[in-house]
Amino acid sequence: MIEYEKYREAGKIAGEALRIGIKSIKEGVSYIEIAEKVEGYIKERAELAFPVNISVNSIAAHFTPSFYDKNVFRKGDVVKLDVGAHVDGYIGDTAGTVEIGSNRYKNLIESAEKALYEAIRVVREGVKIEEIGIVIEKKIREYGFRPVRNLHGHSLERYKLHAGISIPNFSTKNKMILKEGQVIAIEPFSTDGDGIVVDGGIGNIYRLNKKSALTKSIKNKFYEFPFADRWLYEIYGEKTPLKISFLMKRRLISPYFKLVEIKNGIVAQAEHTVFVQKDGCEILTS
Ligand code: MN
Ligand code: MN
Repeated sequence: MIEYEKYREAGKIAGEALRIGIKSIKEGVSYIEIAEKVEGYIKERAELAFPVNISVNSIAAHFTPSFYDKNVFRKGDVVKLDVGAHVDGYIGDTAGTVEIGSNRYKNLIESAEKALYEAIRVVREGVKIEEIGIVIEKKIREYGFRPVRNLHGHSLERYKLHAGISIPNFSTKNKMILKEGQVIAIEPFSTDGDGIVVDGGIGNIYRLNKKSALTKSIKNKFYEFPFADRWLYEIYGEKTPLKISFLMKRRLISPYFKLVEIKNGIVAQAEHTVFVQKDGCEILTS
């Protein structure tokens, strides 16, 4: 059972990093400062499973500041922070939302958080995956919002952030059942828009496509996890932008695009990684 100790360790570190990040997000603070603080905290204790996602307002996910990012948080911003740590490949993935200096989206944020906790209450061995989506959608709609239907939670395995099983945020007909010992991330996204996200351009996050001697140094450092263009400066220094376009042209790496709500609705997210047990589940990222 040693692997669960590693999941617990990774989860604890990810959870602490998230709390520190959320506390530090204030009007006038730069995105890059938060990214470095959160990632620095993780790197001192474990390894990064993906770049910290800092997704503001109608951006739902898959944005991280680039090396030269000049963005600062503004009053009224609704900020999703999504962090991932791993210990020996065992991952903790967790996210939260904060609104800066106002309370306009308090209910929206609460709807995602409450949906997450309702979902966690039903998770146990033998539960149908559709049950999770049903309770998430029901809770979010009670608040008068919509779940984002094309973003979902996922199973996790060693070195695999998305290991094959999707955990829906709305009512589906997924009759598959959860099994004891599985590790899953549940991540409701709630919006006052339509509940669909679309590609919104460069998000500064990339993945490796195939094995190549040309990307060996990336793989050695970041395994097969998503990585930030920022991180490549450790390897390539000032040549990083050139190197990225070279690797993209050869299709050795691909970008993840940032995901934006189709009606520019504001989006809130809450996420925990949990360990499925016989009669419930253990939250690994609290
Ligand atoms: Mn996440
Ligand atoms: Mn996730």
